[in-house]
Parts: sequence; C-alpha cells; structure tokens
Amino acid sequence: MKDFEMTQVQLDVLMDAIKPAPLIALNSGLGMSQQQRANFAWERLGNELGFEHMTVQPNGKGNRFFKAKEKPVECKGLEIGDGNFSGCDQSQGDCPICGK
Ligand SMILES: [Zn+2]
Repeated sequence: MKDFEMTQVQLDVLMDAIKPAPLIALNSGLGMSQQQRANFAWERLGNELGFEHMTVQPNGKGNRFFKAKEKPVECKGLEIGDGNFSGCDQSQGDCPICGK
C-alpha cells in the first residue's frame, strides 16, 4: 500500500460524482447508480494517479489523503502510426516514453 494525495479539484470531482443523483439527470451519470458513479469516479482517479481503485482505504490524514495499492504503470511505447509502436514492452533500448 502507498499513501496518495489527491488535489482539491480531484476531491471536488469525486464528491460531485458520489452525491445523490438529481431526479432528472440531463448530462451526467444517467442510468448509473450512486455506487456505480462512485466506482467510476474512483477508477478514473486511479488511472490518473496510478492506484488500484478497489483497494482504497482511508489513512486518517484527511479527505484528500488515502492509501491504496499501486498500479503498475503500463507503458505502450510511442505510437508511430498504423498501430505500430516504438519502444516497450519494457524495452531494453531507450523507449521514448519510459526510457527503459
Ligand atoms: Zn516504455
């Protein structure tokens, strides 16, 4: 587990996602339950910050702080067109993205 800190903006997005849905949702979360929207928001944050969103636990430091399992960052290399990539799968010769 690793300690993470989200920004105030990220917290706002999260809080907005998990509040009860308005009766008529015009633009957001239509058809999704509150739980689904919460999971979705956490998943997106996990992708941004690099953690497994289902492993999140409070760490007692406050709203913006939590601990979670780190997600290995997947490097795809640099796309050079037609679905071809330069560098990575954990390239041994200077991947242009991760440098491995
Ligand atoms: Zn790479």
